[in-house]
Amino acid sequence: VHELSITQSIVDTIADKTEDAKVIGILLEIGKFSGVVPDSVRFCFDLVTDGTRLQGARLDITEPPGRVHCRACQTDQELTDTIPLCSCGSADVEIIDGRQLRIKSVEVA
Ligand SMILES: [Zn+2]
Repeated sequence: VHELSITQSIVDTIADKTEDAKVIGILLEIGKFSGVVPDSVRFCFDLVTDGTRLQGARLDITEPPGRVHCRACQTDQELTDTIPLCSCGSADVEIIDGRQLRIKSVEVA
């Protein structure tokens, strides 16, 4: 349900911006700590775009790793897990990067 409303708003935004153009490709960036599951977005995308100008558009999703600063061991780390946990075992981490959910580019015909 979470991903469905997010995907709906992404599709609405793109539909607004592209006016009458036929959208053929979309690139999204979904950070590891965004709380959004890329596979769910892919699934919802097909549902949400059905019967719209965006139907059949190629959806690409990049998942950049997250970055955290650990307060326990004072190091910065790059994490590819969706749970921010330092390799020292501490969960007392500050998220520096990885919460983003953005439209990187839209390709129109
Ligand atoms: Zn640590």
